Amino acid sequence: MKKKVLSVGDRVDARCTKCRKVLNHTIIAMVEERPARVLCNTCGGEHNYKDPSPVTRTKTSTPGSKKVSKAKADINKAERQYWENIQSDMDSSKAVNYAMDGHFNVGVLLSHPVFGLGLVQETIGVNKIRVLFQEGQKLLRCATAGPDRK
Ligand SMILES: [Zn+2]
Repeated sequence: MKKKVLSVGDRVDARCTKCRKVLNHTIIAMVEERPARVLCNTCGGEHNYKDPSPVTRTKTSTPGSKKVSKAKADINKAERQYWENIQSDMDSSKAVNYAMDGHFNVGVLLSHPVFGLGLVQETIGVNKIRVLFQEGQKLLRCATAGPDRK
């Protein structure tokens, strides 16, 4: 199989967390050479990229008759899976030390004194970033995004 180098704005087939199908998505954030966040072209939902080929784990189906707020649990599970996915690719020597006056673009690996390694998921407004850490997502302050954002 030919490996195509992807970039933000490209279309990829990804598993949509909402439609629960493999559908066409637009990449909105990349981590290294892999899509990190995608926008579903079908439902318009934004979510973490999921490889379209389903990973067969030992646990195939959970006979869940629980009515506990499943949506939330799904998000956490998705985040955790995503974290596990990216964690193997993380090179802590490449991590940038987090600082409130630092600049962090989407896809940057940062090192936080409390939360450890985290991956910038999104820039929010002009001085906040959403970062995925092992224990979940956090909003952090940062300096105003640089002019190099496209
Ligand atoms: Zn969708």
